[in-house]
Amino acid sequence: MTTQNVSDGQSLLERIQPVSGGREILDPATGELVGRAPEADLADLDAAVARAKAAQSGWAARADEDRAGLLNAAADAIEAQAEELAVLLSREQGKPLNGPNARFEVGACVAWLRATASFPVEPEVLLDDESGHAELHHRPLGVVGAIGPWNWPMMISIWQIAPSLRMGNTVVIKPSGYTPLSVLGLVEVLNTVLPADLLIAVPGRGDIGDRLTRHPDIAKIMFTGSTPTGKKIIAAAAETVKRLTMELGGNDAGIVLDDADPAAIAEDLFWGAFINTGQTCAAMKRLYVPDALYDQVCDALVAVAGQMPMGNGLDEGNVLGPLQNRAQWEIVDRLVTAAVDSGARVLTGADPSPEAVDGSGGHFYPTTLIADIDGDDPLVVEEQFGPALPIIRYTDLDEAIAAANALEVGLGSSVWSSDLDRARAVAARLEAGTTWINKHGAIDPRVPFGGAKESGFGLEFGAHGLREVSQPHVISW
Ligand code: NDP
Repeated sequence: MTTQNVSDGQSLLERIQPVSGGREILDPATGELVGRAPEADLADLDAAVARAKAAQSGWAARADEDRAGLLNAAADAIEAQAEELAVLLSREQGKPLNGPNARFEVGACVAWLRATASFPVEPEVLLDDESGHAELHHRPLGVVGAIGPWNWPMMISIWQIAPSLRMGNTVVIKPSGYTPLSVLGLVEVLNTVLPADLLIAVPGRGDIGDRLTRHPDIAKIMFTGSTPTGKKIIAAAAETVKRLTMELGGNDAGIVLDDADPAAIAEDLFWGAFINTGQTCAAMKRLYVPDALYDQVCDALVAVAGQMPMGNGLDEGNVLGPLQNRAQWEIVDRLVTAAVDSGARVLTGADPSPEAVDGSGGHFYPTTLIADIDGDDPLVVEEQFGPALPIIRYTDLDEAIAAANALEVGLGSSVWSSDLDRARAVAARLEAGTTWINKHGAIDPRVPFGGAKESGFGLEFGAHGLREVSQPHVISW
C-alpha cells in the first residue's frame, strides 16, 4: 500500500488515495466513482499498532493542557477545511450537505473536539479523615482501537478519537469498509496538527477489525456498529481482557401521550425518525400513538414528510438522501414490503421504483410512513435503519410502555406530551440508555450517552466519557 505524500495544491481526496490501485468507492446517489480507498493488510495493522504504542508514553507525559490545546487546534484545522470534508462526506455517505447532515456532521466534529478539550480531569478524593486517605486518579490505557460504522463516519470517529487522545492514549482507527474515505479525510486533516503516530487510520475489511480486537498491544476497543458484530468483538476481546465501549444497534420507541399537541410535535417527531434518512443508531424506529390522537399525528407527519426533499446530497435543496449501500436498501425494502403484504396502511412512500424516487440509479428509498401495523410486525421489531417509520396505535398506555420495553435492545426512547411531570413519570419506566422528552436523538457533548440491554455498554461524552478511556488508579495511605 503506497500513499501519496502531502504536498501543496493537492485536494484532500488526492492526499488520501493510493498512488495506484485501491478499492473503488461509489457515490450512493449516482453510482459514480468518488475515489479509491487504500486497503491495508494485517502487516500494516501490526506496524500501525507498533508506531502508536511507541508514541504513547511521550504523549501521556505531556501536560493535560497541551493535550487539550491540541484538540482545540484539531478543531481549528477541521473548521479550515470544513466544506471540503462535507463534500467528501456527502459524496461517499450520500447524506445531503444541508439539513442535519454533512455540514452539520462536520460542525459536530468541531463541537465535540472543543467540548472534550474542556472537561475537567481532576483526581477524586474518595476518603480523607482520621481513618485514612484515598484518591482516584485516571491514567492512560495505552493504544485504543476504534472501529466505526458508515452512517456518521466522521462524527463517530471523533467521539472515539477525542476522549482517547485527551486522556493520553494513542489511537488506531479502522473505518467502515463502506465509508473509508470520510474517515481517512478526517484523519488527514487532524494529522496536520497532531504529533506523528498519535492517530493512525488502517482502512480494510473485517479481518483488520478482527485482528485489532485480538491484538495484544491494544488496550481498549471503542466500537459503534451492529449488535451481531459487537457480540463477536466482546468474545474476541476476552482473550486479552480488553476494555470495551460498545455502542450497538437500537430500535428506539417513541410514545405519544394523549395530551400532546400533534401539530406542535410533528416536525420534531419527523426528524427524530428521519435524521440521516433514518440511518442513525438512536433514531426513533417505531412510534406508539394513542387512539385519540392517531389520525391527527399521522396527518401531521405526512404533511411534514411532504416538505422534505430527497435527492443527490450535493443539491443544496435536499435534506434527505439515499441509503448508503444496497444491502441496507434491501433490508428496508424487505421490511416495508412485508408490512404492506400483511395489510398495514401506507400513508406515504413504500414505492421505491426509480420513477417514484430518483431516476439516477442511486440507492434511494422514499420517505415512508406506515399506519395500522401490528405491534409484532417485522418492521416494528427489527431495526430498519432507513427512511420507514411504523406508527402503532395503542389504547392502553401500560401496554404501549410494555411494548416499548419488549425488545432486547434499548438505546434511546422518547415521550411526547404537554405535561412534563406526566412525561417524566412515563420516561422513568422505559428501559433505555437515554429517554428524551419532546425530542428524540438530541445528543450533547456534555451529556453522557450509552445503551441498555443489547444496545451496548459504556458511556461516551462528558467527563464520564473521559473516564471510560482511562485506567482508574487508587492511591491510598
Ligand atoms: P457492522 O457492525 O457489520 O460493521 C461496523 C464496523 O465493524 C465496520 O467497521 C466493520 O468493518 C467492522 N467489523 C465487521 N466485522 C468485524 C469483526 N469481526 N471484528 C471487528 N470489526 C468488525 O455494521 P454494518 O456497517 O455492516 O451495518 C449493519 C447493521 O448494523 C445495520 O443494518 C444497522 O442495523 C447496524 N448499524 C448500527 C449502527 C449504530 O450506530 N448503532 C451503525 C451502523 C450500522 P467492515 O466494514 O470492514 O466490515
